[in-house]
Amino acid sequence: MPDLTTDVRYVKGIGEQRAKALQKLRIRTLRDLISYFPRAYDDRRTYKKIKDLEEGETACVEAMAAAAPTLSRVRRGLELVKLRAVDETGTLDVTFFNQVYMKDNLKAGETYTFFGRAEAAGRRRSMTNPLVEREGSRVMTGRIMPVYPLTAGISQLTLVKAVEQGLAACRDLLPDPLPDQVRRDHQLCHIGYAYDQIHFPASEEELAIARRRLVFEELFLLAIGLKRLRRRREALQCAPWERLGLEDFYGALPFALTGAQRRAIGEIVSDLSAGRPMNRLVQGDVGSGKTMVAAAAMVCAARSGRQAALMAPTEILAEQHHRGLAPLLEGLGISCALLTGGMPARARRAVLAGLESGETQVVIGTHALISAGVAYRRLGLVVTDEQHRFGVGQRAALSAKGEQPHLLVMSATPIPRTLALIIYGDLDVSVIDELPPGRQKIDTFAVTGAYRQRLYRFLAKEIAAGRQAYIICSMVEENDAVPDDRKAVTEYADVLQRQVFPDLQVACVHGRMKPREKDAVMAAFAAGEVHILVSTTVVEVGVDVPNATVMVVEDADRFGLSQLHQLRGRVGRGRHKSYCVLISDNRNEETRERLRAMTRTGDGFKIAEEDLRLRGPGDFFGQRQHGLPALKVADLSCDVALLREAQAAAEALLARDPELAGCPLTARRVEELFTAGGDALN
Ligand code: ADP
Ligand code: MG
Repeated sequence: MPDLTTDVRYVKGIGEQRAKALQKLRIRTLRDLISYFPRAYDDRRTYKKIKDLEEGETACVEAMAAAAPTLSRVRRGLELVKLRAVDETGTLDVTFFNQVYMKDNLKAGETYTFFGRAEAAGRRRSMTNPLVEREGSRVMTGRIMPVYPLTAGISQLTLVKAVEQGLAACRDLLPDPLPDQVRRDHQLCHIGYAYDQIHFPASEEELAIARRRLVFEELFLLAIGLKRLRRRREALQCAPWERLGLEDFYGALPFALTGAQRRAIGEIVSDLSAGRPMNRLVQGDVGSGKTMVAAAAMVCAARSGRQAALMAPTEILAEQHHRGLAPLLEGLGISCALLTGGMPARARRAVLAGLESGETQVVIGTHALISAGVAYRRLGLVVTDEQHRFGVGQRAALSAKGEQPHLLVMSATPIPRTLALIIYGDLDVSVIDELPPGRQKIDTFAVTGAYRQRLYRFLAKEIAAGRQAYIICSMVEENDAVPDDRKAVTEYADVLQRQVFPDLQVACVHGRMKPREKDAVMAAFAAGEVHILVSTTVVEVGVDVPNATVMVVEDADRFGLSQLHQLRGRVGRGRHKSYCVLISDNRNEETRERLRAMTRTGDGFKIAEEDLRLRGPGDFFGQRQHGLPALKVADLSCDVALLREAQAAAEALLARDPELAGCPLTARRVEELFTAGGDALN
């Protein structure tokens, strides 16, 4: 008897070779197979009489083969099988290209279902290469078909048949991770039914019922897992830090901190003196001054005899932070070093020695800071800037370096409050909801491509005045392939350089460049040697070139509002008036309204809320910056009401049964979810 752990190669029609191909889709067992959900659906339920077929229409037709099919070889490599099919209303001419087997498959006098795109000219109706099934078979026709993401060597039909068999064999063996009571209280369907319907929905209504249950399940388990992590973390202990006075730090700053910055620092200080490891997120819009909040925490570390590490996602950002912070910290008598991969070996050895002896109190760098080769004397605080949360592996690497260090994560991605509950369920959050005084508004325009020439003249003027500009191209996503941003960006930069700005320096960065090359271009831009930087969203995060005053986004409609906001945050960082130009030729009214929303407000939280309202939470879950376990269904199709419901259900269950003693299946699934992928969460 097959069960959930049975290898897929034992499924009829799979075998060794296809099983290997399926591994690329992470399908190994029957359970993986039936958990491989469709990415879309193709509704093939429309039946038409031949006479009623309209030009270009895709539909099913039930018709009888009026005569045996004929085979003709038009020329080498082109073989046609033709068939005349009839129903009581008319004749359908069917042609198959290079499917010689159709000649023997189709028999005169038999009735078949043909599914395909119809051509209609006068009274003639025809179809080319339709799907054909014996009448009443309904495997590929007459129903809502799942559309699966594919890989080489696996066709839709193979998957459809395999999933069908998988479901038949073990839909009733699926353990339900939702406790019965939760399922009933929230009117969710049984798991077997949900799996049946998510693959082969009988109707849209049934698909919605299945999806609602699966989304709820995902969010519920996520919420439970996060809450348990938080509880476990709160049980950890460490020595409370003392002597956290920051007066001299405040005194050394060239400006007064905003109320929001002070509040965040206060929250951090009380975490540090609480006697358990801090795990706090500082969330603040671009330019809200998160770096100084991190600096305050690092001063606390040094003052209480610990070391602090500040991790940035790229070397360029690490260098930027070091340039800004080292003078401040050293002025307070705190030793500060930079550690990057690109450093000469000798300098690197010196930094490592300083960290090991404890002479260096603050170190700034990339992920390398917590890698195996780096030893600390007494690492007490790790700050990550604009970065994923710590995965399990990193957490372990940190603990191996000594005591449990305090963790501080800084993010400029504003997450609407409703989502923050789930996404940051296990973190404490400080929100910096106030910008330093005197910031100039970034004038934002939403225009069509017709303005491009005027825009280029404007760019020329700004550059003549000594400023710089970014131009962002979106990636073209073709099918399911990994998008290639290189072409879009290099071509654009090339044309711009040759045809528009032959006298200026145009450069580009894209995701396929090596980090070293990317950093070199960014450094040239930061140094003012490059006037216009053409890029994909790789500049989205953290880059600070105050002299850049214009952000142009091509095909702006392809970006989420929050992403546009991040991009816009690259300008307006210095004393010069700055501009953001969103170009889109999309005429869809809703799209234009989204872009207009950008021109009206500069408040990241408002924009995030608007994004949530317009596009749903997928964007936020999709960002992957949060480092949560991957969601399969909820990304695409959850709504805020359901999210709240799942969250509340998780809370209620944990209040009733904190150890999940009464629902071992739930407990087990949560464990799996949070350990799968190895690097999922703290
Ligand atoms: P982000 O939150 O995007 O990381 P930064 O920390 O880089 O923002 O700060 C942006 C700029 O604002 C920096 O040049 C910083 O020196 C400045 N800044 C930070 N706090 C204040 C403040 N309270 N008053 C004036 N300028 C500030
Ligand atoms: Mg920053």
